[in-house]
Amino acid sequence: MEVQDELSAHQQALAQLGVDCRIEISARSRAVAISVAPGGLVTVRVPEQISPQNLVEIVQRRMRWLARSVADQTLLTPDHPVKQMVGGESYAVFGHNHRLLPVEWSKHPVVVRGRQLEVVQATPDTMAATLIHWYQARGQDWLGRQAPQLAHRLGVPLPKINVGDLRAQWGRCHAGELIQFHWALFQLPVRLIELVLAHELVHLIEAGHGKGFQRLLTRLIPDHMERSQALAEAGSRTWMGDVVPPK
Ligand SMILES: [Zn+2]
Repeated sequence: MEVQDELSAHQQALAQLGVDCRIEISARSRAVAISVAPGGLVTVRVPEQISPQNLVEIVQRRMRWLARSVADQTLLTPDHPVKQMVGGESYAVFGHNHRLLPVEWSKHPVVVRGRQLEVVQATPDTMAATLIHWYQARGQDWLGRQAPQLAHRLGVPLPKINVGDLRAQWGRCHAGELIQFHWALFQLPVRLIELVLAHELVHLIEAGHGKGFQRLLTRLIPDHMERSQALAEAGSRTWMGDVVPPK
């Protein structure tokens, strides 16, 4: 088979798995090597003489790892927006877009009115800090309602939970007694927040991401691989608190 034909046959085969990647055919390599670059670009190095079916089987066995790596790498080198904190700008709350409306005065620093997000007018930095604080509180409320049921289903005691700025991580688990979440997570749809919550709760039992971890996560979130892909995509475009610097 010509290299070009071989490339496109491999590409098509992997597209059926939902894997969007760059394929390199290598005369020197003996095994299929998959790498995920910062930003989430997947490269699959394929030895010569491997059939597309065979390639699909090999990649399929590594799908869990792949979905997770894409999620991690996309978050590490993402395309996060920088906000201006001006009227009309879009801000997501649990997956729903709202328009920012700076207001002169209000009893509460942030008020949701329909699809509008009213924030007391101030400098961009101050408004951003106000919003971040508000997301943090919304997240803490949501976790307070949702975490007990999931922890119960796993059979683990409810750990301490807090929300803050975890930089490049959506969630973190500290030696079985504290789990933390990024405030920015609460811009995303609930099904993605649930995934991160379940992931950290499972870490209370399993430290790594091995078979035991996957089994427990699948029990809580049967479609976690699909959600993990969606988290990689949505997460890379999520606002992480950056605002345009003052002129
Ligand atoms: Zn983990």
